[in-house]
Amino acid sequence: MYVKQQQRQGIIYLVSGPSGSGKSTLCRRLAGEGEVAYSISCTTRPPRGAEQDGIDYHFLSREAFESRIQSGDFLEYAEVHGNFYGTLKSEVIERINQGTDVVMDIDVQGADLVRSCEDPIIQTSLLDLFVMPPSEEELHSRLTGRGTDSEEIIALRMKNALDEIAAAPKYTYLLLSGTHEEDYPRFKALLIGERLRASRLS
Ligand code: 5GP
Repeated sequence: MYVKQQQRQGIIYLVSGPSGSGKSTLCRRLAGEGEVAYSISCTTRPPRGAEQDGIDYHFLSREAFESRIQSGDFLEYAEVHGNFYGTLKSEVIERINQGTDVVMDIDVQGADLVRSCEDPIIQTSLLDLFVMPPSEEELHSRLTGRGTDSEEIIALRMKNALDEIAAAPKYTYLLLSGTHEEDYPRFKALLIGERLRASRLS
């Protein structure tokens, strides 16, 4: 029996982990290599550092975000650290239908919503990974080291990190984070391996 090369459905590479776990850098690097498309989220939080609208996020006012909720534009959305964050259906659905893999950097509430989504296209596309920071001390030093957030915001992110970590067992895969150079090959290997799953090839 021969399996012919056919157009396959894309993979949704869903990645979560506390702020400072390094997940965003991993996702961005993978997308930057042209391996996958990056799902640019919408958020009501203000831009941080050199972040650019339409590249890092679609930065929206609360009113604009709420109007997109009403229009049914989101695959999922959640309130994280006091701001709204959401994934547009347009960033994901069409791409996976065309066979493009999409990486999503979203929080644990958003991941729950995507998992519970009944659309069979979503269900058969999902690959979920939790990036676990090495330690509380390292997480704190990474958040402080960015130099972009106030002490108050860092304290809130540290508190939320514990809630995020409690949700780690819901993920199929767990990456115990070391340095970025250690993490990246493993992060990429998971996607490459998933592409070889027989059910995705036939
Ligand atoms: P940050 O403000 O550090 O960029 O992101 C804060 C948190 O929001 C991170 O855990 C990030 O994964 C999450 N996040 C980013 N985009 C989305 C999204 O579209 N949906 C959800 N649910 N969470 C998101």
